[in-house]
Amino acid sequence: MDFDMLGLPSRLAINLTGLGITEPSPIQKQAIPHAMNGRDVMGLAQTGTGKTAAFGLPLLSAIMRMEGKPEAKSVRGLILAPTRELAKQILDNLRAYSEGTSVRIGLVVGGGSINAQVSRLMRGTDLLVATPGRLIDLLDRKAVRLDQTRFLVLDEADQMLDLGFIHALRQIAPLLPKERQTMLFSATMPKQMNEIASAYLTDPVRVET
Ligand code: AMP
Repeated sequence: MDFDMLGLPSRLAINLTGLGITEPSPIQKQAIPHAMNGRDVMGLAQTGTGKTAAFGLPLLSAIMRMEGKPEAKSVRGLILAPTRELAKQILDNLRAYSEGTSVRIGLVVGGGSINAQVSRLMRGTDLLVATPGRLIDLLDRKAVRLDQTRFLVLDEADQMLDLGFIHALRQIAPLLPKERQTMLFSATMPKQMNEIASAYLTDPVRVET
């Protein structure tokens, strides 16, 4: 199995080859076909298993098939991560996978200039990688809207639970349309994850490495 067979746009497959990524990893083989079919996915996977591409490639493919551009302040796909470092890593990977496409990927994390983030969001964003605290700050300022966000990813969800981000998620998730695709990735599956899954995912496919 290679990435062409997974039905990715050829530009993405070419980029992956350029990055030396030729054979999908186990989590990618399991998750990508379901994610490309629009299913919700719940993945048990550690960092380093290629999980960013497992959710990122289907998201990029879906965005590349959409017409037009995102409206001002709106976001087509939201990726929530527990820390700035992880959010930056996800951004870097997605930018590398989508080089040469017109997909606009943004980053919203604490520490960076909020005014710069506000003005970038103004132009509309295809994929936004965010930590929950800064995102809520920007939502409060009405600098961003999630009513057109059809894709949601919760990455390293167990770490988000540890950091108490469940309250943030309770504020953020209701702002998204119910008709959306949601993917959750976590290195461990504590009991509370089932509550999260039943609250925010619909009939998810479970994948693990
Ligand atoms: P991740 O688990 O998403 O943090 O990915 C870890 C690293 O592996 C990143 O640098 C990826 O670009 C790279 N990677 C992702 N998928 C593959 C693959 N199928 N083959 C080789 N490297 C990969």
